Amino acid sequence: MGVTANSVWSNCLAFIKDNIQPQAFKTWFEPIKPIKLSDNALSIQVPSKFFYEWLEEHYVKLLKVALTKELGDTAKLVYIIRMENTYGNKEPFTEKIPSTNRGSMGPQEMDVPVKSKNPELKNPFVIPGIRNIKIESQLNPGYNFDNFLEGDSNRLARSAGMAVANKPGGTSFNPLLVFGGVGLGKTHLAHAIGVEIKDKYPERTVLYISAEKFTQQYIESVKKNTRNDFIHFYQLIDVLIIDDVQFLSGKSGTQDVFFHIFNHLHQNGKQVILTSDKAPVDMQDIEQRLLSRFKWGLSAELQNPDYETRVSILKNKLYRDGVEMPEEIIDYVAKHIKTNIRELEGAIISLIAQSSFNKKEVTIELAQLVVEKFVKNTKREVSIDYIQKVVSDYFEMDVATLQSKTRKRHIVQARQLAMFFAKKFTKASLASIGSQIGKRDHATVLHACKTVDNLAETDKQFRKYIEDLTKKFS
Ligand code: ADP
Ligand code: MG
Repeated sequence: MGVTANSVWSNCLAFIKDNIQPQAFKTWFEPIKPIKLSDNALSIQVPSKFFYEWLEEHYVKLLKVALTKELGDTAKLVYIIRMENTYGNKEPFTEKIPSTNRGSMGPQEMDVPVKSKNPELKNPFVIPGIRNIKIESQLNPGYNFDNFLEGDSNRLARSAGMAVANKPGGTSFNPLLVFGGVGLGKTHLAHAIGVEIKDKYPERTVLYISAEKFTQQYIESVKKNTRNDFIHFYQLIDVLIIDDVQFLSGKSGTQDVFFHIFNHLHQNGKQVILTSDKAPVDMQDIEQRLLSRFKWGLSAELQNPDYETRVSILKNKLYRDGVEMPEEIIDYVAKHIKTNIRELEGAIISLIAQSSFNKKEVTIELAQLVVEKFVKNTKREVSIDYIQKVVSDYFEMDVATLQSKTRKRHIVQARQLAMFFAKKFTKASLASIGSQIGKRDHATVLHACKTVDNLAETDKQFRKYIEDLTKKFS
């Protein structure tokens, strides 16, 4: 009568598609293959046991309605689970596949389950056990809310973090994106949220991962042909914390996979927490669709701590270490290190070490020395003008030449180096660097940075330029 597994399934799909979110459809229904139709039972092949469980948990009603519409009340659904090296089957509102049917498999029905005595144990690989694998949170309990001191500079981010920790997935702060400069507490706060959630909801799966590690894992999964497993793994998580998402810049494959994971988690009321060194508007080379997702929730900035906060962070550190330090020393350090809490801590740790090794009072002179050492690297924010001047001098040309439209190779290189150093040593955006160095656009600057990176690897002379110039800026 022309009713085939394919036709039944494609009608089901049309119905399902109208009733769920496009992303869910793509994730959970497009990978399914109809295999056969017999005795009013439709067999569909799914990529993994996890996949099957997911369908059963979330879409069984929908599937039932769809199939009943097509095949009537006696409709049955049979799942065939495609696995790495063995096959198993599960049947939910179905009966077991009659063994007589299995005897008559055609060659094209290779995926039809082969009965094994112990299908659960048969496959030691990935998917079947994935739900039982305890996912380690990778959280650092040393980073918690108790020792994340509050101040004007972090109040919004900190309270949003608390709100998320109290009700993961249940606030409008999803995703919560914490952004701010180096050493201002992004990683600390991200862990604190995770640690708090683990404390309040021990049964929830929390995972902290740096965007860099996430990227490595993804690349690995592509190599090993386990991309789906990778995605499924991440889709299992209740609270996903990804640190330093700016690392995903320009990595379109990883962005793509993260996009799917994100959508899935978000749709299912799972919490996503991200950190970045920039606000979403300033992120370069991150796909628009991903950026727009980042903006769905709340972006909260960690700003430079004000003087009072710096003093309390220092005092807290000393208190926890059981060390006393004269008030004027604390004051001196707090006044001179303003933009990086890691350096603030570094300086005080260095002072503590000095005082305990030498068994003597920390003097203001010593504090000056230590602070100088820490501040040197950050304090002198070089300007783009200064960079252009230094690069032009180095190549014995004037700034106007460096900025000119000429395509002469040595001038182009000088210009690209100026752009490269401007990116490296200032906080200016690519667009602003471009407009200051000869009115170029951000793509030109980006290209310049990449070219310099490449040449640095391949061209010895060029590497020398970079080394010489770097010295001039530090
Ligand atoms: P980021 O990830 O933004 O570069 P981190 O989270 O690594 O910064 O923080 C740098 C250091 O400063 C860490 O040791 C962290 O514990 C400390 N720190 C940052 N913010 C605070 C805060 N509000 N209270 C106490 N310590 C803080
Ligand atoms: Mg960090």
